[in-house]
Amino acid sequence: MANKNISVHTFGATIGTVLIISSKNIAMKNDNKLAFATRAIHSSYDSSTAEGALNPPIHMSSTYSFESVEQGAARFAGQDSGHFYSRISNPTQDILERRLADLEEGEAAVATASGMGAISATLWTILAPGDHVLVDQTVYGCTFSLLEHGLKKFGVEVSYIDFTDHNQVLQGLRHNTKIVYFESPVNPTMRIIDICAIASIVKSHHSDARVVVDNTYSTPALQRPLTLGADIVIHSLTKYLGGHGDLIAGAVVGSSAMMEEIRLTGLKDMTGAVIAPLSAFLVLRGIKTLELRMEKHCKNAQQIAQWLIQHEAVRQVYYPGLSSDPGHSVAASQMRLFGGMVAFELKDGFDGAVKMLNGLTLIKRAVSLGDSETLIQHPASMTHSTYTSEQQAAHGISRSLIRISAGLESAEDILADLERALEK
Ligand code: PLP
Repeated sequence: MANKNISVHTFGATIGTVLIISSKNIAMKNDNKLAFATRAIHSSYDSSTAEGALNPPIHMSSTYSFESVEQGAARFAGQDSGHFYSRISNPTQDILERRLADLEEGEAAVATASGMGAISATLWTILAPGDHVLVDQTVYGCTFSLLEHGLKKFGVEVSYIDFTDHNQVLQGLRHNTKIVYFESPVNPTMRIIDICAIASIVKSHHSDARVVVDNTYSTPALQRPLTLGADIVIHSLTKYLGGHGDLIAGAVVGSSAMMEEIRLTGLKDMTGAVIAPLSAFLVLRGIKTLELRMEKHCKNAQQIAQWLIQHEAVRQVYYPGLSSDPGHSVAASQMRLFGGMVAFELKDGFDGAVKMLNGLTLIKRAVSLGDSETLIQHPASMTHSTYTSEQQAAHGISRSLIRISAGLESAEDILADLERALEK
């Protein structure tokens, strides 16, 4: 990694000498490694350990026998790395974790039962009463709910600011800030947050706080926050990494020491949100085609966004792949492609949105994202209904916003369905 110390003057005022990590780091192929697509298929699994089976075995075992009492005790004490109980680790989960760490360029990973399991295990591990979390103004609905109804109840301070305004981030840091948390692109508004700039501000002004990025929307095929200065990456594997809408799973990626702490505290004791071996296997299968699928998702999303923006019924389109989008240049610097998610608003507002969604036939009215099927939903009444309507207004979630997850169908068929629904 080509890191360098430079003075930054980009926030209206000099904020001092900060660590800037060159955008060259997001080059998609490490010089000394196999390419991403190759590692997505081969990394961390040696078929000779499983009688040559091309795909890893699904280890359906809740417990593991010890050769001796001493070995069992050593495993519990962390002196012997073998498995001992599947709430902590499992051989199929192990392969998935090593592959995810490789693809995100982290030291280690912890796979979990869901994306919320990953977020909860991370936050509960790191935070204590009296600590502060600085959060972007908009995050996934259940993340918001966890912060508002979970952490605040246990004495954690939470504040929300607009992370695209770097001065606000600088002002928002407190002596007790332990986590700086955001998504990019943001669900559901598609705002783009400059990961490198946020990490630089936090690192140079508050070394104690960890920068946590939910990378669900981008996946490591498009964006690798750890190479841009983030400390921890979160995933809902339910989405693009699983890729087929047939499982719920999550993961955290970061340093070995942090992952060990999350595994032994947040996962083992505080949430118990362990991934099922079958889900771990299915995610490994999904990851094999991740790069290929992401390219098609992104291509379809770009076509949908460009088609929507010229449509007379459409008021606004939010997609970083549009050169007119406020996040376009930052997205271009930190993402390989612009992602498979698009948001938009109709001139007819909420009523128009309801009519349009009900008029679709091919596109499915459903939450979640990253599946083969194109999915459409209304965040204010669905994924982000955990915010009250006052909170939605304050956190930038418009009632007329519609969110599309571009699937893998032919773009022509997706656009034809949208056209028919808009005509109605
Ligand atoms: N993070 C983001 C950005 C999401 O969109 C979601 C779910 O939609 C989650 C986390 C939670 O993931 P899961 O549903 O797997 O718990």
